[in-house]
Amino acid sequence: METVVSYKLPITGSCTNQSGGGTSRHLDVANTTPHSPKNSIFQAELIALQEAVKYAQNHQNKVKIWSDSQSSLKALLNQKSNSTIARYIQDSLYNTHNIRLGWIRAHVGHLGNEKADELAKEAITSTEAAVLTVPLPRSSAKQDLKQRALAKWQRRWDDAINGRSTYEMIKKTGLRNHNWPRQLIQFITGHGSFPSYLFRFGKHPEDCCACGEPGTPFHSATKCRQTLYYHHKCPEDQHIEAWLKSITNHRLLRNKIIDLLNFITSQEDLLKSEQPE
Ligand SMILES: [Zn+2]
Repeated sequence: METVVSYKLPITGSCTNQSGGGTSRHLDVANTTPHSPKNSIFQAELIALQEAVKYAQNHQNKVKIWSDSQSSLKALLNQKSNSTIARYIQDSLYNTHNIRLGWIRAHVGHLGNEKADELAKEAITSTEAAVLTVPLPRSSAKQDLKQRALAKWQRRWDDAINGRSTYEMIKKTGLRNHNWPRQLIQFITGHGSFPSYLFRFGKHPEDCCACGEPGTPFHSATKCRQTLYYHHKCPEDQHIEAWLKSITNHRLLRNKIIDLLNFITSQEDLLKSEQPE
């Protein structure tokens, strides 16, 4: 996976005399701006340093490179850095002896640094700026893969046949844990001691309740005379979805469902054996 970064290496040419009478060339490296938002600022800063190092390698004089990016300089000090750009710079510095790096505070009027910023801003809109192709950072690739997986999951969830009672509650896929108690999960998914569910596995003679109605969680919570004590007021058809949501959001309603499920589970054999009138 690759994307494109446009950059312009800002170089200012202030020359100063060294004590030995030699000349060193100062390069001021500014923030470069990623062409794609998927490339990170960190990458852009490191690339600017990398280009400055390449430039310095072609010169025999001592070169000191000033960067205002502390994170980049720290990355270069880290011998276990995961960044391929950082490792490239480390190798380059290891093999050359004329390059020194230093940190410079940004936006405090250093002539070279200000010029470098100005050139970097120009590079954003310039059609003549050099263009680099840089692999996406690991974090961006992970984010991209996560979004693709979620989108695929969402399409499958939207089009699925199973799990529709849960779909009414949670239409959007995601990694958030709803922290529902076990009994509420059983009620919402229907995967509990309900005839409609037990029947699917041959653990109930029919998918109807002993009272003759469809043995669904909704029936148990609103209509079945065997669970009268735990009844909620039966909502109109058009309000069922809102009612289900209110169960997950309101503690008292939720507790009533938990009590209902505990009762059904503990009385399963009795409820199953009861015959319709
Ligand atoms: Zn019933």
